[in-house]
Amino acid sequence: MIHYIDTHCHLDDSCYDDDRETVIQRAIRQGVTRMLCVSQDLNSARKILSWIDSYPEIFMSVGWHPHLAKEYSSEMKEALIKLSKLPKVISIGEVGLDYHYDFSPREIQKIVLREMYEIALETNLPIIIHSRESDGDIISILNEYKDKVRGVIHCFSGNPQLLDAALNAGYYLSISGTITFKNSIMLRDVVQKIPLDKILAETDSPYLSPIPFRGKRNEPEHVIEVTDFLADLMKTPRNVFAEKIKANATDLWGIP
Ligand SMILES: [Zn+2]
Repeated sequence: MIHYIDTHCHLDDSCYDDDRETVIQRAIRQGVTRMLCVSQDLNSARKILSWIDSYPEIFMSVGWHPHLAKEYSSEMKEALIKLSKLPKVISIGEVGLDYHYDFSPREIQKIVLREMYEIALETNLPIIIHSRESDGDIISILNEYKDKVRGVIHCFSGNPQLLDAALNAGYYLSISGTITFKNSIMLRDVVQKIPLDKILAETDSPYLSPIPFRGKRNEPEHVIEVTDFLADLMKTPRNVFAEKIKANATDLWGIP
């Protein structure tokens, strides 16, 4: 049996409140034996902490999502640092910039992202970056912390400049179910340039269900479709590729 890891899911989302246990057990049964549950603010982190200890398969991150940047204040920093010291917390995220929705002013998003980098630096944890229509500013901030903070570009959307900057700064690129979409031709081209020791796979559940589940609620078990699709794209045997992804996750986060 091949073992898979979903490096980015939001199992705290209220759409799982009625069947979270079933969703988690289904994923584990199918071979998804590691999941990284990514929080977005203090509330979502605390929600994950309320059940995570029941699952040796699940780890988590703490951070402040760019959508919520305008609600951030410096007291949050101490609270996030405190949570980051808990044994299940292995990363800072998700953090970043989102100029597609612009739910928070861009200047504030940048201030909060630099705060999150300071937390990553202080706690020595890798960072999980969200970038939507903001790759230029992400590249500048990533370079400010080059050689000091490592991390992953989550749901990489295929910008070759971001790929170069990320690899140059030692980051990983995480690929979601969008790779399976019919119109993701450019993304498939660019992804083939990622070295095998820098690639990760994720679902971003409950969003971005891969083909043939597109449009439905996503679940960590679908990282199998994403990982197998990537293996075929990279012309690597599926079991070898899944092992590679697990080794990459261990290298970045120390996931056992
Ligand atoms: Zn996410």
